[in-house]
Amino acid sequence: MSGCDLQGIGMTSQRTRDRLVARLREQGITDEAVLSLIGSVPRHIFIDEAWGHRAYEDSSLPIGHGQTISQPFIVALMSQLLNVSPRQRVLEVGTGSGYQTAVLASLCERLFSVERIEALVPRAQQRFAAMKLRNITLRYGDGYAGWPEKAPFDGILVTAAPPEIPAALVDQLALGGRLIAPVGTAESQSLQVIDRTEDGLIETMHERVHFVPLVNGIAKQ
Ligand code: SAH
Repeated sequence: MSGCDLQGIGMTSQRTRDRLVARLREQGITDEAVLSLIGSVPRHIFIDEAWGHRAYEDSSLPIGHGQTISQPFIVALMSQLLNVSPRQRVLEVGTGSGYQTAVLASLCERLFSVERIEALVPRAQQRFAAMKLRNITLRYGDGYAGWPEKAPFDGILVTAAPPEIPAALVDQLALGGRLIAPVGTAESQSLQVIDRTEDGLIETMHERVHFVPLVNGIAKQ
């Protein structure tokens, strides 16, 4: 499958990947594990070939079905903020292309990801197989409900914006765990972080961001 060609454009693009990493460093990304993954995960296999020449630009790009692959800076920022360790379990809501999934899966033990658009699930699955990532479990479903059977999670990352954080997701956060979600409307969103501590939930607001909306229910497309 040419869309999963790990060589080709991948080989010639190492310099553009290195430039992207340098740019993210300048923009304040300091986590070396995250920077190294941005430099090594082949983002071009997560997008349509027509957009391949722009794979290592710091921009979001269309992936069909009205959705987008997130901007590398945002993927790096959220991965850095989530701050997971290799023995931890993570839930992602909104698999999309699977790019953020692939980056996070390399930082934790098990990665569970839920996507509401059916057609995107096998495509992401093929990319993980091409990368030989074996610690990812995908589910076609509505991420508003999280994944109660697999809870609790040490980290929960939402990659589409709800008007407020769904209570079910907070319930599935382990003690010591952290949840990150872009919260707000199409016009105004910020990254919200919730930490579950011994003293209860602690909420903090971070950067202004721009994500597609978190939509209720599943879509057969
Ligand atoms: N991190 C992904 C972002 C994709 S855009 C990437 O870089 O490719 C956000 C994704 O969230 C879309 O694929 C969209 O279909 C999905 N989404 C929106 N609402 C959802 C919900 N309720 N449950 C699961 N996925 C959802």
